[in-house]
Amino acid sequence: MSAVIMDGKALAAKVYEGLKIQVETLAGKGVTPGLGVILVGNDPASEVYVRNKVRACERLGIASKVVRLSGDVCESEVIKNIEALNGDEGICSMLVQLPLPRSMDEDRVLSHIAFDKDADGITVQNAGALLNGIKGALPCTPRGIIELLKEYSVPMSGAHAVVVGRSNIVGKPVSMLLQRENCTVTMCHSKTRNLNDVIRSADILVAAIGKPGFITGDMIKPNAAVIDVGINRLESGKLMGDVDFYSASQVAGFITPVPGGVGPMTIAMLMKNTVEAASQ
Ligand code: NDP
Repeated sequence: MSAVIMDGKALAAKVYEGLKIQVETLAGKGVTPGLGVILVGNDPASEVYVRNKVRACERLGIASKVVRLSGDVCESEVIKNIEALNGDEGICSMLVQLPLPRSMDEDRVLSHIAFDKDADGITVQNAGALLNGIKGALPCTPRGIIELLKEYSVPMSGAHAVVVGRSNIVGKPVSMLLQRENCTVTMCHSKTRNLNDVIRSADILVAAIGKPGFITGDMIKPNAAVIDVGINRLESGKLMGDVDFYSASQVAGFITPVPGGVGPMTIAMLMKNTVEAASQ
């Protein structure tokens, strides 16, 4: 058996087509969406992610402003720059590229982002809106995962979705969104007992762990939809997901590749959130 590959790059291209029209319509009204990004330090992976976000903005005619701060700045300097973007009329949406240097309290820094400019739905106001099922900015990666599942008509209502990982940016919000689609959701983490048994019961499996090849084909229910969020750089320089793609693709019904699955959808949803913020 060979799984259907869920092509995030192709779906992202479709999303861009729609967004380009919306950006042109906004331009006709004299509005240019603007994305602000704060990058602290010179982590090579973060540099790549920020470059890709800026490129996506350029592709769509969205303005972007990257504030680069050295890795040894103090927390108050980062907060000062967040507040400057909060007050910047040319910026409708912003994010702080994570991870921040270890010396900083990530939650405290992020709490200074104005909730109506929160590009990644990371503030407590938007997280609370998601929890209560009311309107708010949705985190980009979880939003992209739901779009991928819908694009490939993966049945969600009544399905058992297992999410491995409980981070604020992926695991928790994607669990909420899957529940909104009427999945029965189990959220797992490093202390989950009998993890393999839980994983094997998943109709939809989301892996957001950060451990290369952690999930192998023998752990997967035949025909399951497998969403691999992990981006792990191996010593060889190659990128690998949290799922062993070859063995999993022999068992799964659907699977996302790494790269080319969830990653491009995360950036497409960032653009979508930015255009929506500008429209409002
Ligand atoms: P975090 O490190 O914040 O969270 C990892 C989660 O995995 C934790 O909840 C942890 O459990 C759980 N975990 C770790 N080890 C195990 C284990 N042995 N068994 C079960 N659960 C385990 O990571 P993120 O959520 O930020 O990111 C996860 C991965 O996704 C990373 O590779 C990251 O690079 C990638 N990523 C990709 C994106 C994309 O666009 N494709 C976007 C964001 C992230 P516990 O809470 O108990 O510690």
